[in-house]
Amino acid sequence: YTGKTGAQLLTEKIGKLTVKEYQSIPVVVNESASVYDAICTMFLEDVGTLFVVNGSSCLVGILSRKDLLRASMGKQELEQMPVNIIMTRMPNITTCSADDLLSDVAQILITKQIDGLPVVNKKDGSSNSDMEVTGRITKTSITKAFVDIANNRIV
Ligand code: ADP
Repeated sequence: YTGKTGAQLLTEKIGKLTVKEYQSIPVVVNESASVYDAICTMFLEDVGTLFVVNGSSCLVGILSRKDLLRASMGKQELEQMPVNIIMTRMPNITTCSADDLLSDVAQILITKQIDGLPVVNKKDGSSNSDMEVTGRITKTSITKAFVDIANNRIV
């Protein structure tokens, strides 16, 4: 018998929750897409953050709702404006991997004041930092984990 209290055991279980258990499907747009296309995708796919990829499916940028709103405030044609001029770009993107702890990701979302992180996989055989987007973790993912904890659904 370890002598651990129920609270200690629960804390341990919460601390072991990982990104892969709570990630959702990433929604991506190509870097050549227009701001107009990105706005349509954001509405149709019902997400708050889009990931921007290049022709080799590597992560090159990120677009939030406010990035798209800001771009829409100007007088330029949204159909002629490529997303890569308004996106937040690499290497300024914070990413995570499937094996990361959910609590670490939650801390990053708080510290950086952002809504979500792309879950990435470093591409095999690539010498540089080419990253393939495999998932998405958002404040909603963290909320789901919270509900699981509250309903005693974590094992
Ligand atoms: P919003 O801009 O709609 O409030 P966020 O708070 O998520 O949404 O985004 C704030 C800014 O941070 C945006 O300019 C966005 O491009 C950028 N951003 C969002 N997620 C990340 C991330 N994972 N890494 C770096 N920058 C990010």
